[in-house]
Amino acid sequence: MSWAAGTQCVAKGDHRKAKPGELVYHKGDILTVVDTSTRKGYFKARHNTTGEEGLVNSTNVREREALRVDPGLSLMPWFHGNISGPEAVSKLQPPEDGLFLVRESVRHPGDYVLCVSVSGQVVHYRVIYQDNKLTIDNAEHFYNLIDMIEFYSENKGSIATTLLKPKQKHGAKSAELELSKSGWLLDITKLTLGENIGEGEFGAVYKGDYMGQRVAVKTIKCDVTAQAFLQETTVMTKLQHKNLVRLLGVILHKGLHIVTELMTKGNLVNFLRTRGRSVVNSVQLLRFALDVCEGMEYLESKKLVHRDLAARNVLVSDDSVAKVSDFGLTKDLKVSDSVKLPIKWTAPEALKKEKFSTKSDVWSYGVLLWEIFSYGRQPYPKMSLQEVKERVEGGYRMEAPEDCPAGVYSLMRICWEQEPRKRPTFHKLREKLEQEMQEMSKHSR
Ligand code: ADP
Repeated sequence: MSWAAGTQCVAKGDHRKAKPGELVYHKGDILTVVDTSTRKGYFKARHNTTGEEGLVNSTNVREREALRVDPGLSLMPWFHGNISGPEAVSKLQPPEDGLFLVRESVRHPGDYVLCVSVSGQVVHYRVIYQDNKLTIDNAEHFYNLIDMIEFYSENKGSIATTLLKPKQKHGAKSAELELSKSGWLLDITKLTLGENIGEGEFGAVYKGDYMGQRVAVKTIKCDVTAQAFLQETTVMTKLQHKNLVRLLGVILHKGLHIVTELMTKGNLVNFLRTRGRSVVNSVQLLRFALDVCEGMEYLESKKLVHRDLAARNVLVSDDSVAKVSDFGLTKDLKVSDSVKLPIKWTAPEALKKEKFSTKSDVWSYGVLLWEIFSYGRQPYPKMSLQEVKERVEGGYRMEAPEDCPAGVYSLMRICWEQEPRKRPTFHKLREKLEQEMQEMSKHSR
C-alpha cells in the first residue's frame, strides 16, 4: 500500500494495547498518515481526535471511502419546502419535545416557519427575511436557515424549547450524518483560521491550520449555494491524484467550509504574471503544462468533465507542482447559466449546443497552454467576447505566444480543432508533452 502523507484513513478495529511507539485507536477512528517511510508494513499516523502520533499497522486501517453521489443528500434535511401548517402538524406526530421542521410560509412568500413540537402541541414561529438576514424575534439574526437551526439547537433563545430532533423530509438524507459516518466531516475546534487569501465567486478563501497541516478553507454562507457545493464535494471525495487539489474534508458551521490542501503559490495566472520570463524558464512552463495534463488525464479516465479548465483554476503548491482545482462543480449547468460561460476558454460546440465533453475540456486545455506560454496573458488580447465567439467559429485561432516552442504551439492547434473528435485525448497529449520535455532537456543541457 502506498499512501501519501495527509491521506485520511479509518481504523478497522480496536488497538488498545499499544507497544511503545504505537498509536492507540478504536474501530471507526479517523487517522491521518504522517510518514510512510518509517517501518515496513507500518506508517506513522496522527489520531484526528486525540492528536497523538504513533505507528499504525497498515492492515488495520482502510482508506476513507468516497461519498456516494446522492441527490437526497442534504445540508437541510429538516427543510420541507412548501407544505401547509396542518401538514406540518401531521408530520410532527407523535408529539416529542424538540422535534422540529422548517417550511416555507404560505401567507408570506419569502419567509419561513419553524414548527416545533413541545408539550404535545406544535408551535409555529414565523421566520422573517429582512435586510438579507433571518430572524424570529428581532433579537437574534442569521445568515441562513442552517445557521439559525444550529443556534436554536444549542440555545433556547426566545422559543419554547431547544431543537432536539429534526423531522427529516421524506427521501432526504442528512449530509452531516453521512459525512461523519464516512469520515469526511472535520472538527471545527481543530481548525485555526488565518488570513484571507482569495475571493471566489461564492465565498472567501482563508489560510488555516488543521491539526498541524496547512490548509485552505473556502467558506460558503448562502445555504442554497452550500447545497450545490455539497455535490461538488461529493465528487471530490472520489478523486485522488497528485495533480488535483486534495480535499481534506468539510466542516458544517453557519454554512459549509470546504477544507483542501494549501497551495501556497496561489493560482497559476498570478504565479506567472508576477514572476515572468526572467524567473520562470520554458522547462518549468512545460512542467506546469504536463502537471495539468496528468490531472486531466486522470479525470478523463474517470469520465468526468471539468467544464471550467483555465489557468485561474490551476493552483501551485509550495514545491511548484500545478494542480487542477474547482472540478466537479458545474455538472448541471442550466441554459440560463450559459451567459456565465467562460467564453474565451469554451469550445465552440459547448458554447452553441452545450455539448460539454472531455473533448471540450481539451479545447480549454489548449487555451490554458497558451496562457502558460504567454506568462499569464489574457487570451485573445484586445478582442471582445462577441468577436471571439464569431471569429473562432469562422476558423480564427490565436497566434503562438512569443518564444513559444513550435512543438507546443502545434499542440495548441490540435486542441483547437473545430471537430471535437479530431482533438487528441489527454492521454495522447501527455505523451506528446513528455516527448517535448525530452527534446527541451536535451537542448538545454
Ligand atoms: P473561484 O470561485 O473563482 O473558482 P476559488 O474560490 O476556488 O475561486 O478561489 C479563489 C482564489 O483563492 C484562487 O484564485 C486562489 O488564489 C485562492 N485559493 C483557492 N483555493 C486555494 C488553495 N487550496 N490554496 C491556496 N489558495 C487557494
